[in-house]
Amino acid sequence: MKLLYAGKAKSLYELDEGRVLMEFRDDLTAGDGAKRATKAGKGALNAEISAKFMELLRKKGIPTHYLGFEPPNRHVVKRVKIVPLEVIVRNIATGSLVRRYPFKEGTELSPPIVEFCLKSDEYHDPMVNEDIALALGAVSSREELSRMREIALRVNEVLREFLLKKGIILVDFKLEFGYDDEGNLVVADEISPDTCRFWDAETREVMDKDRFRRDMGDVLKYYEEVKRRISEN
Ligand code: 5GP
Repeated sequence: MKLLYAGKAKSLYELDEGRVLMEFRDDLTAGDGAKRATKAGKGALNAEISAKFMELLRKKGIPTHYLGFEPPNRHVVKRVKIVPLEVIVRNIATGSLVRRYPFKEGTELSPPIVEFCLKSDEYHDPMVNEDIALALGAVSSREELSRMREIALRVNEVLREFLLKKGIILVDFKLEFGYDDEGNLVVADEISPDTCRFWDAETREVMDKDRFRRDMGDVLKYYEEVKRRISEN
């Protein structure tokens, strides 16, 4: 199979008829790739967790690139043209938000905050406003940004409610979007403990990639626990 693209944690292979095979690797990175590790089994855990979330979004009528899960660590997805923005939704203030602004750690954000950031390791994914996103050509209209915002908030509602029933607080997460061959805007990439913050609803224990970023240990043990909880009926 032809390798189309190898990112920091996933590789894309060309399949056929506008379909792509997305392989979740065992690589973990943080700090725009400055910190790296490999943890055997991480790719399979993220692939399974992300498949579950993508299937949930599909059930709720939210358009995604996801077509199917090929265990242990692959998704079949639509070929899309990626919008070079990260869309972040925050329900609780933590991470870069409390480093950049005078929010108190752990404060609930109601309504949630949506941020657009440029996908660029070189510039450390800077937050952009509408004018900057347009001037850089990341999007071609303000409507595109409001569509992404709308879908991201809907994804937040769906995932937040689902996770809370599993004893998990959805603190914040990052989405990527793309356009499929028919020109539809769809949720792309992955939704996993690598791209979301999850806290245990009772103990507020960290259950996501912050365990790696902050050297808290037991990274895969918590990814496994997320998978276990969301797989229960
Ligand atoms: P923060 O801006 O606080 O670092 O991150 C906010 C949320 O977006 C977190 O859930 C974090 O995992 C996710 N996020 C932000 N930027 C990136 C990124 O470049 N890669 C990944 N995997 N997640 C990101």
